[in-house]
Amino acid sequence: MHHAFGMPFQKLHTKLIEWYAQNRRHLPWREDPTPWHVWISEIMLQQTRVDSVIGYFARFIEHFPTPEALAAADEQELLECWAGLGYYQRARNLQKGAKRVIEAFGGKIPSDFETLQTIPGIGPYTAAAISSIAFDQPVGVVDGNVVRVLTRLKAIDEPQTPALNARLQPLANAFCAFGQASAFNQAMMDLGATVCTPKSPKCDQCPWKADCEAFAQGLQEILPHPKVRPERQKVFVVSGLVIEGESIWLAQRPHHGLLQGLWELPSIENCNDPAQLEQLGLTCNPQVSWQITHVFTHREWTLTLYPATGKPHGGHYLEHRLWPICELERCPLGGPALKALIAAQIAVPPRRGAGKQPAFQLPQKAAGDPQMSLFG
Ligand code: SF4
Repeated sequence: MHHAFGMPFQKLHTKLIEWYAQNRRHLPWREDPTPWHVWISEIMLQQTRVDSVIGYFARFIEHFPTPEALAAADEQELLECWAGLGYYQRARNLQKGAKRVIEAFGGKIPSDFETLQTIPGIGPYTAAAISSIAFDQPVGVVDGNVVRVLTRLKAIDEPQTPALNARLQPLANAFCAFGQASAFNQAMMDLGATVCTPKSPKCDQCPWKADCEAFAQGLQEILPHPKVRPERQKVFVVSGLVIEGESIWLAQRPHHGLLQGLWELPSIENCNDPAQLEQLGLTCNPQVSWQITHVFTHREWTLTLYPATGKPHGGHYLEHRLWPICELERCPLGGPALKALIAAQIAVPPRRGAGKQPAFQLPQKAAGDPQMSLFG
């Protein structure tokens, strides 16, 4: 059967469903794809690799098996459960959404694509995933993997923009109209993740090779074109590392703006002069430092961390607290702070793909090492 898009939809649909039956990835949220499980997994997967999400997903649903359990949680408990996944706003939005489900829908997650989007934190993408994967509604899911597969399938030779994604939605929907939307959408995600990969797609293993326009034209390595990215503002930040005994001073950021509510090393932003840490009551050693960069959507931080002494206070922080280093695994740390602690060898990153929190340790005192003498 042919369609306005010029694609043999039914044939492609059947081929992909057959491929999926043989090649699907076995992921914990697929074992029991309730709407709650699909919702949590999709939010976790938005900015985090599948390998890393696996461990967090099991722990999270054990803690919060229902929207009711999450709606009733206090924020600190929620953030501790999310610690390590980063992008904490996702966790806060998930809780807001759970509260809405209780208030507006009696605790039952709706199945309809439009109704789902009235819930805070659920945009068109997550609504499509819940509606199709948990309820088999005929809505296409257009994530990064699917954009890549469709762009190649149709050899769309234009920059990636939100407008292009919007145009791909009816194409994805047209496939789902042939039924089994749950399997079809997950198959598309798996095809993009395992076969139609960003680099070196494995076209020889692809069930759509015979109909793929990019493959026919030899464009599979070139398409899709990169995303058009906004210019980022460059910001300098200085931070103080104050260790007392086996604890470290951290400060909690305000509940609004960048990295809201997360903990970090006491810092001054828009500044590259370590002497300014005096504003927070800290005296630092400018001879020793560790530097990291951290990229946000609209800005890029260059953060320099200095060993310091003093009791931090003031700044825009909600609270300053001495955290035992052995308890830092539970601390909702911002991404830049975690990177800085890794640079100072207080945090030890997990092995790639291990999906675990970093470990934390007291800095090792090297004999005669002048920088370590600063830690007292
Ligand atoms: S043939 Fe190659 S480029 Fe085309 S969809 Fe399959 S893996 Fe992707």
